[in-house]
Amino acid sequence: MDEKPRLRLAPARERAVPINDRLAPLYPRFEGLDHDGPLQLLVAVVLSAQCTDARVNTITPGLFARFNTARAFAECDIKELEQLIKPSGYYKSKAKNIRACCAQLVARFGGEVPSGLDDLVSLPGVGRKTANVIRGHAFATPGITVDTHVGRLSRRLGLTRHNDPVKVELALAEIVPEPEWLHFSGRLIMHGRKVCLARKPRCADCAVADLCPKVGVPPTSRTSTGPKVVKSKTAKGARPDAPSSH
Ligand code: SF4
Repeated sequence: MDEKPRLRLAPARERAVPINDRLAPLYPRFEGLDHDGPLQLLVAVVLSAQCTDARVNTITPGLFARFNTARAFAECDIKELEQLIKPSGYYKSKAKNIRACCAQLVARFGGEVPSGLDDLVSLPGVGRKTANVIRGHAFATPGITVDTHVGRLSRRLGLTRHNDPVKVELALAEIVPEPEWLHFSGRLIMHGRKVCLARKPRCADCAVADLCPKVGVPPTSRTSTGPKVVKSKTAKGARPDAPSSH
């Protein structure tokens, strides 16, 4: 049987903005990590490794009611901290990182979370992804957060061929306008959670199907009748720019 001829797509540089424009109204609000200030965000991001944001959001209210400063975390009883964060998984290493990180905040930054990328990545348990989330959402510094969704979608959409998150970040920074960096990452994350699923992308329901070369997507997932509006089930009251690491 003859295959339908594939449409020739514009280069990534010309598709990035239209893709962002299509996704923007679909994901006006972001379901991310609840937090109040940079310290809470830093702790929440550490907890979100290998854990959903929704689960982290059930843990943090009790956690921040018990510990609300870097010094309080730095001087806490590690066993108590472990118990409080246990539902997030990997709780022993996360507790160790949170306490060590907060000890560094007290010793080197007066108990405050720094805003510089180099300072942030020098903290225990804080990598470039976490640092970009904190800079973007706590300090309003433009940044592209490359998590598993952003990496996967960027490759499927043909916006980059790289697997390395830093290379993906730099490639996206070249083709997405700087004021949109933070929002673009958030939109890709939401789209990856709701439509462009890791195992079975729902291309037939995808609003950017006609802009997507579907790199690496099996033919059975590709059948598309063109763009459709996919309504985002956003949480009531969620902030449009709340962060996520998933
Ligand atoms: S068309 Fe398919 S592969 Fe491309 S973004 Fe949409 S769901 Fe993902």
